[in-house]
Amino acid sequence: MIDAPERTLELLKNSNALLEGHFLLSSGRHAGRYVQCARLLQHPSFSEEVCADLASVIRTDLDEENPFDVIVGPAMGAVTFGYELARAFGVRGVFAERAPKGGFTLRRGFSIQPGERVLVAEDVVTTGKSAKEVVVMLQEMGAGLVSVASIVNRSGRSDPFDALPYYALTELEIPSWSADACPLCAEGADPAVKPGSRPGL
Ligand code: ZN
Repeated sequence: MIDAPERTLELLKNSNALLEGHFLLSSGRHAGRYVQCARLLQHPSFSEEVCADLASVIRTDLDEENPFDVIVGPAMGAVTFGYELARAFGVRGVFAERAPKGGFTLRRGFSIQPGERVLVAEDVVTTGKSAKEVVVMLQEMGAGLVSVASIVNRSGRSDPFDALPYYALTELEIPSWSADACPLCAEGADPAVKPGSRPGL
């Protein structure tokens, strides 16, 4: 039996996906650490391993070899992750894109049939906002059972999607603060930066 949380942390460290600095999160809050899962996922062997582990955890929990018909991830963050997770389950993997009027939509001829069992893939769940918007899209399409899976849960909750089943390989507690209560700002650190917004992050 794999120790999935331990191994996932090791792979995140080995791929330098755990960043230290002064970060401006999409919520507007500041943090001193950030998980950039894309750094892990850029390595196909790491990506394959975490997705196989995650699929194994879910299959064991549900006691079912093929619990889903399709994997859906919100672009861009979950494109690679969703695809690799789809490979691990041996099912279709599609991605949803931001709709001009808000929320998410399927383009490129992707579709979900009514009743299909869907696993929503989001590499890191912080607030889970994107994944929740994808869930709304799926409900409007008449999807069947919807569950959510991530590599990292840093929401601080075991049920960030309330009643929806949720699976994560590992949990990380990363403190964040409102800008006016940020100790890094108080120390006179360089201004907080959005992760991914400049080279090196
Ligand atoms: Zn700050």
